[in-house]
Amino acid sequence: MNEVGVAIVGGGPAGLQAAITLANKGIKPILFEEHSTIGEPIQCGEGLSIHAFNDFNLPKGDKSFSVKELDTCHLIFPENKTILGDIRATMIRRDKFDQYLSKKAMDLGAEIFTATKVTDIKRKTDGVVIKTKGESNSEYLAKLLILAEGPNAQLAKTLNFQTPSPMIKGFEYKVKEEWSDKLEFHFDSKKFPFGYCWVFPREGETNVGIVTTAKDRKQRLDNFLKKRGITGSVLKKIGGQIPMHGPLKKLYHNRVLLAGDTAGMVNPIFYGGIRMAMTSGRVAGNAASEILKMETDQVNFNHRIYEEKLRQFKFMKRINFQCHRFFYSRSNKFLAKLGEVFDNKYINRIEGAEIYKTLRKILLRPTLLTNPIGLYWLYRGFLIARDWGF
Ligand SMILES: Cc1cc2nc3c(=O)[nH]c(=O)nc-3n(C[C@H](O)[C@H](O)[C@H](O)COP(=O)(O)OP(=O)(O)OC[C@H]3O[C@@H](n4cnc5c(N)ncnc54)[C@H](O)[C@@H]3O)c2cc1C
Repeated sequence: MNEVGVAIVGGGPAGLQAAITLANKGIKPILFEEHSTIGEPIQCGEGLSIHAFNDFNLPKGDKSFSVKELDTCHLIFPENKTILGDIRATMIRRDKFDQYLSKKAMDLGAEIFTATKVTDIKRKTDGVVIKTKGESNSEYLAKLLILAEGPNAQLAKTLNFQTPSPMIKGFEYKVKEEWSDKLEFHFDSKKFPFGYCWVFPREGETNVGIVTTAKDRKQRLDNFLKKRGITGSVLKKIGGQIPMHGPLKKLYHNRVLLAGDTAGMVNPIFYGGIRMAMTSGRVAGNAASEILKMETDQVNFNHRIYEEKLRQFKFMKRINFQCHRFFYSRSNKFLAKLGEVFDNKYINRIEGAEIYKTLRKILLRPTLLTNPIGLYWLYRGFLIARDWGF
């Protein structure tokens, strides 16, 4: 059996960032990815917050994976009321982006096996036994395991971890031509329950998608395209599952750390997760390197530092879920009234006398006042989503 310090399952942003972090610290991890090419198939709207570029020192304007920078965002509510958002994002080529991370990890010394599925994991007193099938057909004994296997979390389930639930499904068309010059998020509690439709322009293309709990997603997306006047030919269709309720409570146990979608690290308002996946991967990598140093015997690892470090981030706060629950159970009447108050305004730029005018507008709309605490959750949750939404 091959013995390794840290093994990682999953070659998505969480696993790859964990590998980069560990390799940077001189600990060469081994990473397994079941697909033969990192980043494929794409299951993503491909919007990445500008904050991720700053956090991870990603090259801005690198044409290999950056397609277009957007600094305007419209949140469109029923009756066409539009709230302006300070969300700055880069449209990326998600396959190329993941491949960029993978190359970086390998250049630093991480060992990456593609076309290698981890089929079984078992804890032993001195580590975790990992069985692989594919390009690497072998057994490994890892002192620590970072599970970043995406939303399905099959392996996490076998170790009796709680897994992300419920899930919401996303479905997207890549359409020829640019149909907007900004990021658009269309909310409508009847047409897109618990979600929204997005329009993300790229160079000569647009990603138009829907995320909703409704089962007839394709039909609803087709109707949206018609209403929005988007007629370009469909170049590609993609879809996938997204954890809906945010981070899990328990993120580690006995030599195993969960990261990314496997740990539910998705913002429950916009359902984006790349930046959170990378952040949790980085924190897991840092924690793993500290845990290995702290080791006093082969059993007592201090994993708590992982969760403690992660819980310092705003995306871990319960208010995100409270905002999700409140926002996505409002009627269209409520959403339209909210849109009316902030129509054509940036909420976070309201200052001075404008604050009183806005409060007055809210007070004059009884529909908005049925749950004042909910309004507070909404405000706080959207402020966090602005930075951590995707
Ligand atoms: C339709 C859709 C649109 C989205 N749009 C956006 C967006 O615009 N912006 C954004 O920020 N987020 C978006 N997301 C969410 C984002 O894609 C995820 O949050 C992100 O990919 C999570 O990264 P991860 O590394 O945790 O998991 P993943 O990217 O899912 O990576 C997990 C990897 O593990 C591998 N794996 C699984 N099991 C095994 C195994 N047993 N052995 C070996 N390998 C295994 C998988 O093949 C996969 O490559 C979207 C999601 C969907 C479904």
